[in-house]
Amino acid sequence: MLATRLIATTSSMDQMLAPLEQSVVPALRSVLGESRTLIPLHQPEFNGKERAFLLDCVDSTFVSSVGKYVNQFETMLTEYTGARYAVAVVNGTAALHMALKLAGVEAGDEVLVPALSFVATANSVAYCGAVPHFVDSELLTLGMDPVALDTHLVNIAERSQGAVRNRFTKRRIAAIVPMHTYGHPVDIEPLMELADRLSLPIVEDAAESLGSTYRGRHTGTFGKLGVLSFNGNKIVTTGGGGAILTDDENLACRAKHLSTTAKIPHQWAFIHDEVAWNFRLPNLNASLGCAQMERLTEMLQRKRRLAERYREAFAGNAAIEFVAEPSHARSNYWLNTVRLTNPDKSVRDCLLTAINNAGYQCRPTWTLLHRLPMYAECPRAPLPVASALEASLINLPSSAHLAGELWP
Ligand SMILES: *Cc1c(COP(=O)(O)O)cnc(C)c1O
Repeated sequence: MLATRLIATTSSMDQMLAPLEQSVVPALRSVLGESRTLIPLHQPEFNGKERAFLLDCVDSTFVSSVGKYVNQFETMLTEYTGARYAVAVVNGTAALHMALKLAGVEAGDEVLVPALSFVATANSVAYCGAVPHFVDSELLTLGMDPVALDTHLVNIAERSQGAVRNRFTKRRIAAIVPMHTYGHPVDIEPLMELADRLSLPIVEDAAESLGSTYRGRHTGTFGKLGVLSFNGNKIVTTGGGGAILTDDENLACRAKHLSTTAKIPHQWAFIHDEVAWNFRLPNLNASLGCAQMERLTEMLQRKRRLAERYREAFAGNAAIEFVAEPSHARSNYWLNTVRLTNPDKSVRDCLLTAINNAGYQCRPTWTLLHRLPMYAECPRAPLPVASALEASLINLPSSAHLAGELWP
């Protein structure tokens, strides 16, 4: 009985999948060529001055959190993004954790985060002793849906004791954390309006969107604070690293202070004026980052070209659609993504197996955060779009070098 049912399921799956697989694998082959070994999802490139800067850093003996490259890296970040201040730290998660603290998130608060995100977005809330409150995403941007959020807050929020509260849990809602998924800018303007109306700070998780802009302005510079990541899989890497962006001088000073054990500068005395962290980015990592930043513009051009090739390869395919940048925005196309027109996890998984077996490393999107055991009891909005996206998104190999030479 069980066996027949399994066979029936498998063969109907084959029927659904066969045409899909037959169109997707050749589409990937047309963009990426035949693959002999697995083509990875995303590889860093060190074709610039990385080695020279690293050696110079070692020779200087300033390999830890003091040194010229840390300052230079921060300057490069402010010049590139247009933020007034950038504070470099050990990773994007630590940056988010600090940014939430600096935005005023306290133990016992709730923070609105997208259910469709990398786990660090929720973890950083939990590190503050606060509770993530999961909200839905938009099909077009893959990011937080401002209209759905507004509706949800009408249903669950109230103003009492000088704060916006969840009327069911009575906890204060302390911040909103939109995230720019795979580099595609979220629809930030209506989110800013909503946040302003409720006097809630926005902390932008721009970990994936260095190089992406919304109406010409760099992502991560809209909120009170924004956060970048320079992990090895991101568009620019320092090995491990992150940064806080802000226009607020006071917050920037606080960020620097809190990331360096809150030590009061003094010729010799060890005076620390609060419990703080050792989160400052080492000079060694920053030296890599300076070399990487020099190549960012060219990197973005090649990633756009790769995205354009994917878009063409999937054009006219009714079952699968390339996720293009929203019209209001320019994406860094960090991870190229396709979406099944009919969301279905088992079809998605069969397709993932077929594509990976063909030599192209592909991944599904993240498991929605409210499904993870530690966040299962957290408050959440209805999540119809995030659930559909979870069952339909597939990331494709996205290393810049896959676009070939820019000017052959
Ligand atoms: C990478 C990432 C982070 C965390 O960055 P790390 O540098 O890996 O700590 C946070 N949020 C999102 C959405 C990310 O993709």
